[in-house]
Amino acid sequence: MMKEITQNISAAKVKSPDSDATLTAESANNKVMVNLTEKTKRPEMLVGSTYKIKPPISDHALYITINDILLNQGTTQEVRRPFEIFVNSKNMEFYSWVVALTRVISAVFRKGGDCTFLVEELKAVFDPKGGYYQPGTGIFMPSVVADIGHVIETHLKTLDMLPKSEIDAHQQAFLKQKQQAAMAEDTNKTVSKSENHQLNFPDTASNCKKCYQKSVVLLDGCSTCLNCGDSKCG
Ligand SMILES: [Zn+2]
Repeated sequence: MMKEITQNISAAKVKSPDSDATLTAESANNKVMVNLTEKTKRPEMLVGSTYKIKPPISDHALYITINDILLNQGTTQEVRRPFEIFVNSKNMEFYSWVVALTRVISAVFRKGGDCTFLVEELKAVFDPKGGYYQPGTGIFMPSVVADIGHVIETHLKTLDMLPKSEIDAHQQAFLKQKQQAAMAEDTNKTVSKSENHQLNFPDTASNCKKCYQKSVVLLDGCSTCLNCGDSKCG
């Protein structure tokens, strides 16, 4: 039955499925929404991803598993949300704080709502003993905790909870062009096979305060990061 609405809508009520036994599966799709809360029961089986990090300051690698829960399965509101995190390592040195960290992070995940703030909080943790350059990516990690923060960031990007890239396609193309020019110049000066060079950033680049990649060069009088586009003039 169709009804034209001629007045402003001042109040609305969502029909509960219990009150209407004739509710079809299709309309239920649009009306029943399961949100993640502390009361959400853990299903017997969860799917997840395991990431490996190998901090040079540790003899053993750390394996970080983040399991996701599927909410509103089979409906238009189907979403995957992180539910729990585990960190495994042969390295016993980190044991107690790693257990504490994973319990707290899992509790934040299960509360539902926005958990993306965890990424910036963890990435900002500095180890007084000094950080390290992540093998393979060359990104500066101020601590193992920050490394775990980066893993959570990667995972939340796969779930579309964080934007995949902060810069638009136009800016990306511009940076790519500047990067190629900087690399061509750099190669002319010295035959370099450094790790930074293999990552396609010039050896002369300095560390970026935003993305921690060694990719800041001087462009038209401004310090510009070839990786994330962060720029400072003067
Ligand atoms: Zn940067």
